[in-house]
Amino acid sequence: MQSDLEPGAQTAGFIPLSVPNLSETEWRYVRDCLDTNWISSAGSYVTRFEEDVAKAVGARFGVAMSSGTAALHIALKLADVRPGDEVVLPSLTFIAPANAVRYLDAFPVFVDVEPDCWQLSPDQLAGFLSTDCESADGGVRNRHTGRRVAAILPVDLLGHPCDLDAIHEIARRFGLSVVEDAAESLGAQYRGAPVGGISNLSALSFNGNKIVTTGGGGMLTTADRELADRARYLSKQAKDDALESMHREVGFNYRLTNVQAAIGCAQLERLSEFVERKREIARRYTEELGLVPGITPAREASWARSTYWLYTVLVDPDEFGCTSRELAETLYTEGIQARPLWQPLHLSPAHSQSFACPCPVANRLNRDAISLPCSTGLEEGEQEQVIRAVRRAAR
Ligand SMILES: *Cc1c(COP(=O)(O)O)cnc(C)c1O
Repeated sequence: MQSDLEPGAQTAGFIPLSVPNLSETEWRYVRDCLDTNWISSAGSYVTRFEEDVAKAVGARFGVAMSSGTAALHIALKLADVRPGDEVVLPSLTFIAPANAVRYLDAFPVFVDVEPDCWQLSPDQLAGFLSTDCESADGGVRNRHTGRRVAAILPVDLLGHPCDLDAIHEIARRFGLSVVEDAAESLGAQYRGAPVGGISNLSALSFNGNKIVTTGGGGMLTTADRELADRARYLSKQAKDDALESMHREVGFNYRLTNVQAAIGCAQLERLSEFVERKREIARRYTEELGLVPGITPAREASWARSTYWLYTVLVDPDEFGCTSRELAETLYTEGIQARPLWQPLHLSPAHSQSFACPCPVANRLNRDAISLPCSTGLEEGEQEQVIRAVRRAAR
């Protein structure tokens, strides 16, 4: 989110929401790229980064991409999402997965998140597929739009996994593929298994605000060699010959550079340290702010290990004494960056042509939720400042 900060936001005294945590190792690896002239889209760091990420998430293959959105685009294409199809995803999410669906001339369908951990609701999902859809050609069709439903796109939000077993079971029952958007949740676990290695196709992001960053970048992970090969092929303009420029189909320029991968390799060495630090920050916030009337901290499901990528609380305006937006304003005047969650996509003009189920929880989260500073480099004194400022703002 560094790039979203006002100029000077990183100057002394300002506490940003979430910024990268870089060390000497990043410098060393980047320098190595520059010294050896390997700065572009081939190079040993790209391969190493793919292997290291795949290993970290327990996937057999990783294919580096220029962004998480690019990884989602390719993953949806590999899941055989075709023009005019529909893909079901939560209304509450960063817009990238819905946009990736549109890149294929398919349409998102929005369902609500559940109120406990704010993830895609398996009940709402099953409800949509059984009530709003009818069977057609071995799959299902949305009765309202007449479109074929091709896939489910669960998004592991804010560092917390979705209930993946339930979602995969529903996918099997209705003959749908699953593309998991794990962009916000590298390092999180579902029933002891890391996200990114559970669904057959997953997408990760290494944008500047994510737990591990390459500045900008992403990765598709899969257990399937054929899918990995095809993803790599499509990300390199679908080039068919090592020597001649020949192409059987339209590909994409979605490659990650060696310099970015070098940063990623260094970052990934610290993934467990970063997750521990995020969880420590969350523990302290929850202990201190959980006692403030009107504040409800994000919860962790019994089967989940969250990274608390963006530490978020709900503000009940009546009990707390002001709204989430007023709290954000107050914090800002004290040099603390806080931010509401995304506009639910069923309300987004960018996706007004999409079908949506009622999404009261997404609406409430957009109205009442606010994310607090939680960079892995956040110092104890800074966190104390945030906690005090929130307490002072309370009635
Ligand atoms: C960050 C993010 C992405 C991918 O973002 P890029 O900036 O393209 O890497 C995708 N989905 C979600 C939910 C995200 O938060």
